[in-house]
Amino acid sequence: MFNTRLGPSLFSTTARHALSLASRSQSAIGSSSSIKRSIPAAAAATRYSSSCSHPHSHAHFHSHSNPNPTSGTTTASTAPTPNTNNPSAWRGKNDDQDISMYLRQTHDRVFESNRAWAAEQTTKDPEFFAKLAAGQNPEYLWIGCSDSRIPAEQITGLAPGDAFVHRNIANLVCNTDLNAMSVIDYAVTHLEVKHIVVCGHYGCGGVKAAMTAKDLGILNPWLRNIRDVYRLHEKELDAIKNEDERYNRLVELNVIEQCRNVIKTATVQQSYARNKFPIVHGWVFGFHDGLLKDLNIDFEGVLHDIQKIYNLTD
Ligand SMILES: [Zn+2]
Repeated sequence: MFNTRLGPSLFSTTARHALSLASRSQSAIGSSSSIKRSIPAAAAATRYSSSCSHPHSHAHFHSHSNPNPTSGTTTASTAPTPNTNNPSAWRGKNDDQDISMYLRQTHDRVFESNRAWAAEQTTKDPEFFAKLAAGQNPEYLWIGCSDSRIPAEQITGLAPGDAFVHRNIANLVCNTDLNAMSVIDYAVTHLEVKHIVVCGHYGCGGVKAAMTAKDLGILNPWLRNIRDVYRLHEKELDAIKNEDERYNRLVELNVIEQCRNVIKTATVQQSYARNKFPIVHGWVFGFHDGLLKDLNIDFEGVLHDIQKIYNLTD
């Protein structure tokens, strides 16, 4: 077992937000102009000039509606949206109007993007939404980490309707998790997916947190599953002296163990006995190059091994 500090990806946003709120309550800096100081005009203009192409028939907060966001009166309709969704950018600001505007803008931005996306799909294929409404027939069940940086469809080029998706902290498949078990059962029995992918990622804050000797409250029982993975592979992991390499290997072993957990389910075993699908895959995503690594799970071999104890085909 090794100890590390908590990774930045899992808890830091909440922590920074809390810090931000705390500092805002203590700071004497805040004013409406603080928003403008925190947003370089060029950065804000860049953000929106590249994303906005639709007619300006509705109210929005694009910076190009305010050509000089660093001067003049800031109002809800003309102020630039912050060029980051990281609330820490607001640290030190104590103007409640600032945070209210930030929240309104980050909320409205999603609807604005949604309208643009819907229009774009219709332009590309007038039948797009009629097809979506007709039903789903996905080839893949994707079980991934909740980490915000790994959107399943975007990194794989899959389209809406291609993948049934389940995500949780550290892409775990626990046999007492009614949520995950229901997703697998529905995907296999009713949607008849052909592939089940468990996708982890290097730099997983959940895996790193599990390796931290600390009481993490409600997360303890969840992360315990990862500690159990470590225990199962203790000899191999302890032999890896470089901490980053050991951590990366634990990420991979966690994916492999979760694949085993998928294969242990009666749903998967019975479907495979009948149909020869689904097949289970273990992949790991890397932030450094954006590529997926296939761990080449030997599905038939794993199935054969686990059925010695976990055979649920009868
Ligand atoms: Zn993760």
